[in-house]
Amino acid sequence: MRGAVIHAAGDVRVENRPEPKIVAPTDAIIRLTATCICGSDLWPYRGFDPVDEPSPIGHEYVGIVEEIGDEVTTIKPGQFVVGSFTASDNTCENCQAGYQSACVHREPIGSEGAQAELMRIPLADGTLVPTPDMPADDLIPSFLAASDVLGTAWFAAVAAEAGPGKTVAVVGDGAVGLLGVLAAKQLGAERIVAMSRHRPRQALALEYGATDIVEERGDEGVAKIKELTNGLGAHSVIEAVGTQESMMQAIRSTRPGGHIGYVGVAHDVELPGEELFFSHVHLHGGNAPVRRFLPELVELIWNRQIDPGKVFDLELPLEQTAEGYRAMDERRAIKVLLRP
Ligand SMILES: [Zn+2]
Ligand SMILES: [Zn+2]
Repeated sequence: MRGAVIHAAGDVRVENRPEPKIVAPTDAIIRLTATCICGSDLWPYRGFDPVDEPSPIGHEYVGIVEEIGDEVTTIKPGQFVVGSFTASDNTCENCQAGYQSACVHREPIGSEGAQAELMRIPLADGTLVPTPDMPADDLIPSFLAASDVLGTAWFAAVAAEAGPGKTVAVVGDGAVGLLGVLAAKQLGAERIVAMSRHRPRQALALEYGATDIVEERGDEGVAKIKELTNGLGAHSVIEAVGTQESMMQAIRSTRPGGHIGYVGVAHDVELPGEELFFSHVHLHGGNAPVRRFLPELVELIWNRQIDPGKVFDLELPLEQTAEGYRAMDERRAIKVLLRP
């Protein structure tokens, strides 16, 4: 089968790879209908994460179940399924508490490499959520978004306690930040401030429900948020970047007693203890338990109540994956959808 392999920073190739096989009786094999490139795939692509050996890449997927292991009971061949980037049993105490990304039996999906024609999904019963029926083609991008960026954004908005009467600020204008705006709106936030200096991203943020745009970043961005909130800061802040600057921007934009949902994968972030001590903010985040939200998100998408698929502004055949990485690296595209 064809699949993407990262060889080194800046070097992603589509190659012939061995077809995945059922390894454990709880596995399923899916044939991917669509996959995509994640902002977090850019960390190794840009050389911030080391690439020690050629590795399959990609962790966001939707597809049709092709084969199941002997112990899989709820997932059936022929179903269209969505799953998250962490395989989870959905039964252990952490899963039952809503933290499937911390499942005691969790397995990362990334090493399987979702940017491919076929993929092995461990713990299929716990990991995969089927749609009610075969979805219309125009819904595919939205279901694919649920696999990571929408689920991650939803977790960030919930962790930030976005809701009625709240002012929510969103740091980061990638797909997760933009869908953080959508999630905050769905959760009933009164005012949503998107922090972005890119016109097409501002436009999508406004379409998703942003009420204000702040172009400044760092301390100037913080000052703008304070200006919009009587000097207090936002009640809720979504952090969707993962750098020192974005994390401090989030903490300093939050009012005392406010909540920060941080989901940008932290890279060399060091929090100053004393400033944190006196800030009185709540910090909650991490790799998102997307699985917690999937049943609800699948229903919202199936009923066409939300349209998260609009974050995909470039669609390419799988063979052109390398061009997809370039487009995202150069910020020519917000998010790239790949069709195997
Ligand atoms: Zn991702
Ligand atoms: Zn579990």
